[in-house]
Amino acid sequence: MIKGKTFIISGPSGVGKSTVLNALLREYPDLYFSVSATTRAPRENELDGVHYHFIAPEDFHKMIEEEAFLEYAEYVGNFYGTPKKYVDAAMDEGRDVILDIEIQGAQQVCAKRPETVRIFIAPPSWSELERRLTERGTDDADKVQKRLLRAKVELKMADAYDYFVINDTVDSAVEQLKAILLAEHCKSPQR
Ligand code: 5GP
Repeated sequence: MIKGKTFIISGPSGVGKSTVLNALLREYPDLYFSVSATTRAPRENELDGVHYHFIAPEDFHKMIEEEAFLEYAEYVGNFYGTPKKYVDAAMDEGRDVILDIEIQGAQQVCAKRPETVRIFIAPPSWSELERRLTERGTDDADKVQKRLLRAKVELKMADAYDYFVINDTVDSAVEQLKAILLAEHCKSPQR
């Protein structure tokens, strides 16, 4: 059986990755979205097991010791990691897998699995990113500043990715992602 492909989506906090991915998943329900584990506290609208597996720091560290993560990283004071077993099970079923992870985790996955397709989602402008992150209202002013500082570093790393998508409108970003998925499946097996 043909194995599914792994796609990484990275991009600064507040760029709208979740909104774009949710819209993509509605159109392609067979895509497997990898639900990460995190030590971050849930936001008001977030459900355990749907948006993240919200776990205690000691359980996260236990999973690191057990080598249960495909990758993990610290991001603005919290840990985030991709549980390996669900990703592998979905790929074995021939499903494509989408990971919404930041750049350190993306580097770890690509070192282990170089065939992974990396997609960077960027904001249309810096001021628009600031606006989205502030108006989201999920973080206090200090956390917003930390996320913006991190965003500067992330935007500099965009060149390392295979594809670059500007999230101007959700619809256009989804169309571009669909084109990327299609192109990757039309690639010659030699590449
Ligand atoms: P947030 O706290 O806004 O949900 O996520 C913060 C950052 O963590 C985002 O850039 C998101 O892509 C990243 N992230 C979410 N899950 C994972 C994961 O499993 N591993 C890594 N390395 N980053 C993650």
